[in-house]
Amino acid sequence: MPDTLLVTGGAGYVGSHCVRALLDAGHRVVVFDNLRHGHRAAVAPEAELEVGDLADKAAVGRVFARHRIDAILHFAGNIQVGESMRRPFLYLGDNVQCAVNLLEAAAEHGVRRFVLSSTCAIFGAPERVPIDEDVSIAPGSAYGESKYLIERILRWADEVHGIRYACLRYFNAAGAHPDLPLFEDHEPETHLIPLALDCALGKRQAMQVFGDDYPTPDGTCVRDYVHVCDLADAHVKVLDLIRDRSRSFNVGIGRGYSVREVLAAVARVTGTTFPVDVSPRRAGDLAQLVADPARIMTELGWRPRFADIDAIVASAWRWRRRYPRGYADLATGM
Ligand code: UDP
Repeated sequence: MPDTLLVTGGAGYVGSHCVRALLDAGHRVVVFDNLRHGHRAAVAPEAELEVGDLADKAAVGRVFARHRIDAILHFAGNIQVGESMRRPFLYLGDNVQCAVNLLEAAAEHGVRRFVLSSTCAIFGAPERVPIDEDVSIAPGSAYGESKYLIERILRWADEVHGIRYACLRYFNAAGAHPDLPLFEDHEPETHLIPLALDCALGKRQAMQVFGDDYPTPDGTCVRDYVHVCDLADAHVKVLDLIRDRSRSFNVGIGRGYSVREVLAAVARVTGTTFPVDVSPRRAGDLAQLVADPARIMTELGWRPRFADIDAIVASAWRWRRRYPRGYADLATGM
């Protein structure tokens, strides 16, 4: 019997790619999304879309009453590091409360598996890089703290209600579906690769590099960019593993690229050049975040299919070039 999976935030960037992968693996999928940031067009037609807000407990309860849910994958939430440093309570309040609402309903309806879309931002300034799962957790932003609080709450969901969970700490989700029109489309867009692609398209004048005085080889921040389809694959695989016990995994490819290296990749892949200006550091940013993916590779047999930055950028460029205004263009059949 296929599982029925509830995917919160399934109309968003990582969520929509996961929905596709879960359907391809033979599951039934119910998407719960308020469509404030997500896109109706990103939801696979085979999935059932329930439009609603996790802050609304009654709406959450109705979804569980309508569907017999076997497992939950929780993507919905506020996701910007920079914004979280201006509006910490939005993150520490809403992100946490929405997860609690979901877990309460899960406990009430006997759901036993839960996958959290977590983040490497829980590690703050890590004591060593690459970052394995034993590195001390010390979030450097309110966003990271909000995800860590949810990770801790999950321990109690397991302890008290037997909800087995996986925390997947993503490094930098990037790229787009290689075959289907699924891609990154945030409003406002704050992420490095889509902004740089907009420069390549001439939609933006120049790129800002947030700080070039970090203790890294070229002074700009180093990140581990992991393709969104590889992330999706990790979710599909982990659902089986947590039938027995809860686990946490760092999900990255284990290789870091600096901001300048990413911008060079964008220039190469798109065949364009654009001005790059250095501006001050962005609050909450850390010098270097690179995963040690040994645990997820060993325990889940997970292997990233997209192992270099040019391939990741090229997958995003394909759709950004065809739909410069993102899902708005897709919806109008442009
Ligand atoms: N970044 C940048 N200019 C931008 C956007 C991002 O220099 O316009 C840098 C940012 O400081 C970080 C890296 O690019 O070091 C990746 O940032 P992004 O917002 O894409 O992801 P995050 O690491 O915040 O999850």
